[in-house]
Amino acid sequence: MRLENRIALITGAGRGIGRAIAEAYGREGAKVAVADLTLESARETVAAIEQAGGTAMALKMDVTNEEEVDVNVNYVVKQWGGLDIALANAGVQHIDPVHKLAFSDWSKVMSVHLDGAFLVTRAALRHMYQGGGGTMLYMGSVHSLEASPLKAPYVAAKHGMLGLCRAVAKEGAEHGVRSNIICPGFVRTPLVDKQIPEQARELGISEEEVISKVMLKNTVDGEFTTLEDVAELAVHLAAFPSAALTGQSIVVSHGWHMQ
Ligand code: NAD
Repeated sequence: MRLENRIALITGAGRGIGRAIAEAYGREGAKVAVADLTLESARETVAAIEQAGGTAMALKMDVTNEEEVDVNVNYVVKQWGGLDIALANAGVQHIDPVHKLAFSDWSKVMSVHLDGAFLVTRAALRHMYQGGGGTMLYMGSVHSLEASPLKAPYVAAKHGMLGLCRAVAKEGAEHGVRSNIICPGFVRTPLVDKQIPEQARELGISEEEVISKVMLKNTVDGEFTTLEDVAELAVHLAAFPSAALTGQSIVVSHGWHMQ
């Protein structure tokens, strides 16, 4: 097992990519703190991890709430004695052209991704610095590295997470903390399924065309990236043994973006 006895916290892990990574970490021997907006969804992931023989706890944690983040991260450390891996994964999407975008929708997307990543990072680093190091991970996107129309707040927030990841790699080095960002292409999760009809409406094309001509157009093989692909990369980055790999964005997108 590649993460035996490591203590990991993952935000937005009640479903989608976060859940797939939480389950993979559980299979690899980590103790997994599963955080999400509702305790119910976090508990579903915990049940799946426990059913597979792993160890996990459920946390109700809104990543935009400073106090909830601090209290929950402290609780994990108190219960399990430390924190080795923290993954800022919680995210939302909003589809609109910039000139029609409500300030509240801009703020919501920025807040979940960027404020959330900052608050989780700050709370985690306080413990990692005391404990001799750790691994910070961020769920970026191909949109951390390039733009698409109709997604300005998401693109801006994901570029911002790349900056935060790099800053943490620089500051964290002397404390034994590595920091990397995972940049997936499109993965079929509720976040993506919701935007297919929204994009079809905005662009005046069919849902099939959104998939083939927008989402997968620039991949090398017309394939979606899978939950398993992203989870495998997240295990690899968490298990990597040295600071040779820090401050990096790793793209997993069927060649949509090549760097
Ligand atoms: P999802 O909608 O299936 O899951 C997102 C999770 O985040 C949900 O469980 C939701 O409850 C949680 N969440 C939302 N706001 C929160 C908050 N304020 N506090 C705590 N939790 C909150 O989406 P997903 O596709 O699994 O996305 C997970 C991450 O992966 C996001 O950061 C997303 O931007 C990123 N991503 C997704 C794709 C994709 O194609 N699905 C591609 C690249 C990056």
